[in-house]
Amino acid sequence: MKLTILGSGYFIPMVNRNNSGYLLEIGSEYVLLDTGSGTLRQLIKGGYSVWNISKIFYSHLHIDHLADLLPVLFTRKYTQPNREEGKLSLFGHNDLQKIIAGFENLFSQWIIHDKYPYHCNCIKPGKYNYDSFGLEVFKGNHAEQSLMYRFEDSTGKTLLYTGDTDLSDELYKAANGVDILLTELSSTNEEFTHGHLSPSKISQLLDKCKPKVTILSHLSPETEKGTIIDTINVPLNCKVELAEDFAVRNI
Ligand SMILES: [Zn+2]
Ligand SMILES: [Zn+2]
Repeated sequence: MKLTILGSGYFIPMVNRNNSGYLLEIGSEYVLLDTGSGTLRQLIKGGYSVWNISKIFYSHLHIDHLADLLPVLFTRKYTQPNREEGKLSLFGHNDLQKIIAGFENLFSQWIIHDKYPYHCNCIKPGKYNYDSFGLEVFKGNHAEQSLMYRFEDSTGKTLLYTGDTDLSDELYKAANGVDILLTELSSTNEEFTHGHLSPSKISQLLDKCKPKVTILSHLSPETEKGTIIDTINVPLNCKVELAEDFAVRNI
């Protein structure tokens, strides 16, 4: 499994950090986790093509996690696939279907590809098996449509992507003993925001779940400073790092 950070930033545009987007190479598949504004360009900059991607999982439907879906579909319509199987599956809360129906209502001739279709799959908490990986989906604690995704590859390595989140029993269950916890740090201890994690909340999460490596992303202008990591209590044998755009981790 290989994770590439395409966007480690906040919902407000930042010079050095794109909106949320991550590329996961797992088994024989290339999977995107969220497509915030600029994700498509980040993907190209990283040396990949939109046609590499067979699945996109949406943590929730806020604009900073979703905005590049329309450019992804538009690019697929007017370029050629570099793989035999050009299908794309989109996964997320029920409301994703409504958003796509809206896109199709306005832009159908520019996004619907007869030969290489996309499909929207509403997904609910539970366990799923795909050819390249196993997946467990948990309900998130951020927005009504929030979902968290725990991927497991054929060697048993696991990665949890929480999207934006606050603490919850579901989060504790999902993050327990995971190899990579890809989560967020967009709140400070001083300026506490509901639905997001702060250093003290992350300390609680690590204490309870002991993920091997925690990557903190969705960084705000206040939380992207390197010193904030020193305020997190990191249990023995656990590692914590701040995400950077284009950082790569092999798991
Ligand atoms: Zn959000
Ligand atoms: Zn967000």
